[in-house]
Amino acid sequence: MPKKIKQFHLIIFGCQMNMSDAERLATVLKNLGYEETKNESEADLVGVIACSVRQAAVDRIYGKLREWQIVKEKKPLVTLLSGCVLPADRKKLADKFDLFIDINHLENLASDLQNIQPEEKLALPSFFSINPSYYSDYRAYVPIMTGCNKFCTYCAVPHTRGRETSRPSQDIIAEVKKLLQANYKEIILLGQNVNSYGLDIKDEIKFPELLQKIDKLGDNFWLKFLTSHPYDMSDDLIAVMKNAKNLTHYLHLPVQSGSDAILKKMNRHYTITHYKKLIKKIRTSIPDIAISTDIIVGFPTETAKQFKETLDLVKEVNYNTAYFAQYSPRVGTAAAKMFKDDVKKEEKKKRWQELNKLIGKQSLAFNKKLVGQTSLVLIDQNKKIDKNYLNLGKLANYTTVKITTKKSIKIGSFVTVKINKVLNWGVEAELSTSFPRRRESH
Ligand code: SF4
Repeated sequence: MPKKIKQFHLIIFGCQMNMSDAERLATVLKNLGYEETKNESEADLVGVIACSVRQAAVDRIYGKLREWQIVKEKKPLVTLLSGCVLPADRKKLADKFDLFIDINHLENLASDLQNIQPEEKLALPSFFSINPSYYSDYRAYVPIMTGCNKFCTYCAVPHTRGRETSRPSQDIIAEVKKLLQANYKEIILLGQNVNSYGLDIKDEIKFPELLQKIDKLGDNFWLKFLTSHPYDMSDDLIAVMKNAKNLTHYLHLPVQSGSDAILKKMNRHYTITHYKKLIKKIRTSIPDIAISTDIIVGFPTETAKQFKETLDLVKEVNYNTAYFAQYSPRVGTAAAKMFKDDVKKEEKKKRWQELNKLIGKQSLAFNKKLVGQTSLVLIDQNKKIDKNYLNLGKLANYTTVKITTKKSIKIGSFVTVKINKVLNWGVEAELSTSFPRRRESH
């Protein structure tokens, strides 16, 4: 009987960086002879790529473990855990999984797998030299660095991923070149603090130059990057964002709090005055830029007055969207050791709801301004409903666009649309034959 090909299934409880980790992990497993399956119940190996920074992710990991324990009673199943897992969580969880893989040391996967089931032997390269098999054939996440030196007190990344390590620029450029040759339309450069790219390698180019080089590789793609730290956002980077032809006019710039006192406790290395000046500089240089942010509400000791400072900042900056969370202490982080989680649950919830209402209003106002504009949309989904097709896509600033057409629009293609109407969750548009009014709307 021919040997049955083993199958694996990966689940992601985290951010885009974890998604990129999963793509690389999947490549390693494929090199070891495994096949990916979308059907978890068919898998011989199941893995969670998680970010244990938030309690919600940890709870979901335990939920999956319970399910897999039941499956294991019926058939052999290898369980694997990887991603940004705090040392404290690792200690608790490692025994419950068959394998724990440090994402920075994927080269260990072959030998670790072999230890628990003596099969193929493969000498594998390091984290960055593994070219992933991407989950999409038109949108690719390309890691340019891993780790972080900033040590924000609430964050686990420096403990889970270690210090900043940049990937050689020639490797990044080669990967993007290949993606563009394969007709990829959206390239998202990933790193915990992309602005620090290259600082750890002697003679390496820095982030603005890397963006310029990648920008010159093609004409018909969106180039984006995540995430920027306000402390390191340089004038050179703003100039490149203004002039590069493929870089979208979208920036995610986490502020976390509107209070200087809280920012200090978070160890964020900037003040609100600095942040506001930065926003002004960016908007003066790139007037149509869409800016989003991250905010934590209910950080230890945050008073009602300090939370109001956050609301005031949000009103003043006028974000097109924001991602916000209620603070929860994570074991192993500095904040968990230094501060008592003293803002009551109900109070955190109340602040979260207030912020949610404000950001909702701002997003709606931002989308209203789009009505009448011609923009490029990257199509993500299409579905036949009665005689028409409902096509869903994204603008460069991640606004969701609904387009109803007689024929379906190819997933992964750019189309030009005229925006007609605002919806609660995005905008409605029709296909247009004119060119986008602004290059940056693409
Ligand atoms: S800059 Fe980001 S990744 Fe680095 S420690 Fe702060 S929150 Fe974590």
